[in-house]
Amino acid sequence: MLKSVLVIGAHPDDETMLVGGTLALLHSRGVAVHLVCATRGEGGEMGEPPLCSREELGAVREQELRCAARQLGIASVRILGYTDPLVGPDEELYPFEADFDTLVEQLRAAIREVEADLVLTHGRDGEYGHPAHRLLHRATKAAVEHSTRQPLFYTFAARVPGIEDHIWNDSEPAHLALDVRPWLDIKEAAALCYQTQHALFKRRRNLETVREALRTTESFHRYLPPVREGYPQDPFADLLRAAGAWVPRTRGT
Ligand SMILES: [Zn+2]
Repeated sequence: MLKSVLVIGAHPDDETMLVGGTLALLHSRGVAVHLVCATRGEGGEMGEPPLCSREELGAVREQELRCAARQLGIASVRILGYTDPLVGPDEELYPFEADFDTLVEQLRAAIREVEADLVLTHGRDGEYGHPAHRLLHRATKAAVEHSTRQPLFYTFAARVPGIEDHIWNDSEPAHLALDVRPWLDIKEAAALCYQTQHALFKRRRNLETVREALRTTESFHRYLPPVREGYPQDPFADLLRAAGAWVPRTRGT
């Protein structure tokens, strides 16, 4: 049975925008969802017009994160406190600076402390290639591999054939895809907490509202244990399939 899930994200809002519908589902099924966020997103945008100063942004985004966590029913939030660097010229993105072994040890400790049965994090490609997401993927994978608990290990934003989205991790085909529209109101309430990021959410695809920026399909690739053939069978997969998730490769069966 799935009792405890640990979600590991690089920036405030990753948990909501990439996997928020599923987190709301897990909470509604009595699963304790815990969140680790590596940074306070202090290198990001302040809003249009700016809602705070650059110096205040980390604290403001932390409050936004705690607001979103309440909406999603997240049981605990742990911020590792790495510094999110500024976006460079030409929109270039950077990872946060971290000693890799220390980061792995912090994640391992979090897995142990929340007694995680499942660890969920960024894909190997960092969704749209974000180096902070890729770094956290590598560190989380190492932490899970060195964990005595041997939790299930899944990544989110796995590629779903037939649905175009620039955030899919191309090297990770989805084992499970879920239509999250039944939980979209909760996902929207969480996204609305991120006032400093609303302009960014809408600008990417020229949208009028935050709700339109929310993805209605969330998807997952299982790393551990590896899926040999067919579809994954484990407590997370069972819970998702009972909620209507499909297996992209064998859709229709
Ligand atoms: Zn991010």
